[in-house]
Amino acid sequence: MIRYTILLTCLLGAVSIAQTPASKEVDTVYPDAHALYLDLHEHPELSNHETQTAEKLAAHLRSAGYDVTEHVGGTGVVAILKNGSGPTIMLRTELDALPVEEKTGLPYASKVHMKDDAGRDVSVMHACGHDVHMASLLGAAEIMARTKSTWHGTLILIGQPAEEMIAGAKAMIKDGVFTRFPRPDVIVALHVGNEHPAGVVGIVPGTYDTNSDSVRITIYGKGGHGAMPHKTVDPIVIAARTILALQTIISREVKPGEMAVVTVGYIHAGTKNNIIPDQAEMGLTIRTFKQDVRKQILAAVERISKAEPAAAGAPREPLIERYEGTDSVYNNPALAEKLRAPLEAALGKNNVVMAEPITASEDFSYFVNQGVPGFYFSLGGADPQKFAEAKASGNPLPSNHSPLFAPDLDPALHTGITAEVAVLRNLLNTSPDDLHKLAVEPSSH
Ligand SMILES: [Zn+2]
Ligand SMILES: [Zn+2]
Repeated sequence: MIRYTILLTCLLGAVSIAQTPASKEVDTVYPDAHALYLDLHEHPELSNHETQTAEKLAAHLRSAGYDVTEHVGGTGVVAILKNGSGPTIMLRTELDALPVEEKTGLPYASKVHMKDDAGRDVSVMHACGHDVHMASLLGAAEIMARTKSTWHGTLILIGQPAEEMIAGAKAMIKDGVFTRFPRPDVIVALHVGNEHPAGVVGIVPGTYDTNSDSVRITIYGKGGHGAMPHKTVDPIVIAARTILALQTIISREVKPGEMAVVTVGYIHAGTKNNIIPDQAEMGLTIRTFKQDVRKQILAAVERISKAEPAAAGAPREPLIERYEGTDSVYNNPALAEKLRAPLEAALGKNNVVMAEPITASEDFSYFVNQGVPGFYFSLGGADPQKFAEAKASGNPLPSNHSPLFAPDLDPALHTGITAEVAVLRNLLNTSPDDLHKLAVEPSSH
């Protein structure tokens, strides 16, 4: 108990430096950003349905002096501020919320319901913190517009739809976000989460998150009476064997130490206890850091998913569909190193930490894969005291997508605005040539 108390005190001491950064510049725009946050949080919209959200963001950016185009790749927003010659820098926020019922108990908690794409009535919540990202972007946008003497070049802010469906970045690229508008020299984004206390930002040079692949497998058997299994080929038994065999990919085939996840997230089969169905469907998510490990696992999933039905004498091969996938987000290491200094200057050295890659995924990688160097960093969202307590007790705080996800708003939003301005100003004071030289990859990643 004493050791626990000492540990807790140490942790509380360590994070007490993480506090709201005092900045007159941020104070002047904070009321606007805060009001937008509350409005967006109370009125979230599902992926590809972010019409009101996009309209609100577009209106605010227009009144801040930006030249705004709407409906880019669906509900996407592109806002441009030109300020003489210089580099072109893009900052991205997402617009969408999630089908989650908010249980935070906050006075501004969402009570919104919407029909999802399948026609089901679902609760909607900004459970991933994209409202923090939009509010931070507005705060940064207003500061950059009011302080044009501190930078030069072209600043482009984008609001991207449907991040949660890994669809919006692709749609904006297809609709010309890099061709109808000036092509950026660097693209920047942040993501709020409980990995860090509010007041802190995390930088991960190189691979930031995972490759993600969604695979649907339909196993075909031969249906019949549950009491006459000898006249059937039972797809449920084949599916069960397949699931267990899939678990040996990580434990027996992938090199120990490589990051890899194979999860069977659902299995759907059958209607009644005395009927053997004629098919079984399962859904997988596969996460990896490295492309070669990703290829190895996808090949092993296919091999095992075909072999188990063959071993059972299934009447036909299973259907294996890779229906969704995204590459990991890659942070140009030289760029990450360059931007560490302005972040430390703005937030304090102890509030900028070098962090580990995370096992989530993001479609920001689509922008980077177009050859635009990216800087994607983490914004601390946890109440510093609760963060320290969670570390000490080993009970993690609610993660993004949880009905209880609730960033410690004031310090997180202040820090988001401060960090974005620091990064944008630094980049907008670097010549395009220097940015290109810096961002050359020593070898392919
Ligand atoms: Zn999310
Ligand atoms: Zn998110």
